[in-house]
Amino acid sequence: MKTNLLFNQKTVFSFEVFPPKKTSPLETIYSTLRELGYFKPDFISVTYGAGGSLNGQTTIDIAHAVKHTYGIESVAHLPGINFDKAEMLKILHDLKCAGIDNVLALRGDISPNVTPKDDFRFASELVTFIKENGDFNVIGACYPEGHLEATTLKQDLIHLKEKVNAGTDQLISQLFFDNDYFYAFLDKAHDMDINVPIEAGIMPVTNKNQIERMVSMCGVNLPKKFKQMMEKYEHHPDAFRDAGIAYAIDQIVDLVSQNVDGIHLYTMNNSYIARRISEAVSTLLAVPKSA
Ligand code: FAD
Repeated sequence: MKTNLLFNQKTVFSFEVFPPKKTSPLETIYSTLRELGYFKPDFISVTYGAGGSLNGQTTIDIAHAVKHTYGIESVAHLPGINFDKAEMLKILHDLKCAGIDNVLALRGDISPNVTPKDDFRFASELVTFIKENGDFNVIGACYPEGHLEATTLKQDLIHLKEKVNAGTDQLISQLFFDNDYFYAFLDKAHDMDINVPIEAGIMPVTNKNQIERMVSMCGVNLPKKFKQMMEKYEHHPDAFRDAGIAYAIDQIVDLVSQNVDGIHLYTMNNSYIARRISEAVSTLLAVPKSA
C-alpha cells in the first residue's frame, strides 16, 4: 500500500528503525520489529547506509520482513549520492521484487570515505528518476529549521518546493525539540503551495551523548527547558531516560492537538521507549483529526 493514502483517514503514526551494525547479528532487529508491531504503527521506515556504510540489501531485507513477516506497511530509505543511474535501476528493481511500494528518496549523508557520484546530486533528481522508472510512493525529507548546508530557510524551502514538484508524495521532517519551529515551517510551506502531507519527526532523547551528536549532525535548536532537563538529570540515567520520554510525549500531545498530519518516531531500535510513548498517545491518535 502507498502510505500517502493513509493521511486522508487519520493522524498517521509511524516508526523509523535502522539496520543493526555489521558487528551485531541481524536477528536483533527482528525481535525489535516483533515488539514494535504490538503498537500497530501505520508504517515502519528502514534507514539505508546512513553515514556512508552501504548496507542496502540489508535495508531491503528488513523492509521486506516488516511488510511480509510482521504485516506492517514498510518504507525503504534510499540515498542517491553514492549511486549512478544503472545501479539505481537495479535497486528499484530489487525493491519492487521485494514488494516494497514506498521509498524515502534522499540525497544522503556525504561520507568522507566515499566519493559522491554525479547522477543524483540532489534528492529532487532522484525523485524524478524514481517516478520515471517505477510505480512507487515517493517520500522526501524536510527540515523545519533549515538543512545544515542551506544558506537560509527560505532557500531550503525553494529547493523543497522543487523536490515536491518533481513528484514527492509525502514528507517526513528532521527531528526538532521546539514545536514552534515546526508550526512556522508548516505555515511557510503552505504559503509556497507545498500541499503534500508532512509528518513531524520526533526523537526521544535518552542520553547526553545522543543529543550532542544530534545537534552537531542536524543543527537543531535546544529550548531552555530542554537544556535544563538535560543538566538536572545528566548523572541519573533512568531519570534522564524518563525525562526524555516525557518530553517527547509532551511534544506529540501538542502536535496531535494542533492536527498535524502525522508523527514519525525515531525509535533508535529501542522498543521499550517506543512502547512507553505509544501507550501514552494511543487514545489521542484515535480521535479523528477534525474533532
Ligand atoms: P536534498 O533535498 O537534496 O537537500 C540537500 C541540500 O541541498 C539542502 O541544503 C538543499 O537546500 C540543497 N539543495 C537541494 N536542491 C538544490 C539545488 N537544485 N541546487 C542547490 N542546492 C540544492 N541519510 C542517509 O544517508 N540514510 C538515511 O536513511 C537517511 N534517512 C533520513 C530520514 C529523514 C526523515 C531525514 C530528515 C534525513 C535522513 N537522512 C538519511 C539524512 C539526509 O540524507 C541528509 O540530511 C542529507 O544531507 C540531505 O538529504 P536530502 O534528501 O534532504 O537532500
